Amino acid sequence: MKGEIKLYQKICSYCGKNYETSRRTSKCCSDPCNKRAYKLKKREGNNIKYEDTEVRKQAALKTNILLEEILTEMRQTNRHLAVSGKPYLSSDEVCTLLSFSRKSFARFVQKTQVAVYSFGKKQYIKREDLDKLFLTPQTK
Ligand SMILES: [Zn+2]
Repeated sequence: MKGEIKLYQKICSYCGKNYETSRRTSKCCSDPCNKRAYKLKKREGNNIKYEDTEVRKQAALKTNILLEEILTEMRQTNRHLAVSGKPYLSSDEVCTLLSFSRKSFARFVQKTQVAVYSFGKKQYIKREDLDKLFLTPQTK
């Protein structure tokens, strides 16, 4: 009939009560329910945002670890490259080239009797002397 307000039967999305309303888009029975529903929605939204940040943090952490590993490997490769072309190698460089500890270097020198050139505290080995050692396979 003309002039009559159409009422909708609704269920409040906050408290679950049945209610009548003239507004078709209404979701809650009352103003307090409206406010509480809004707050709840906002809080859930924040939780999602927070979880999202955590996921991002974890991902960034993983990426950092990976980058650190790559960097370490690159530094190692760079050291090898820098060392491999030199005609004279310091004891440290021989260790890098052959993956020796300082102790194994001392044992290596003693066992192979490779010529060591000492200048003050620095010790050097000729690259060609080193290469010669690798011409004859050693079993012990
Ligand atoms: Zn309600």
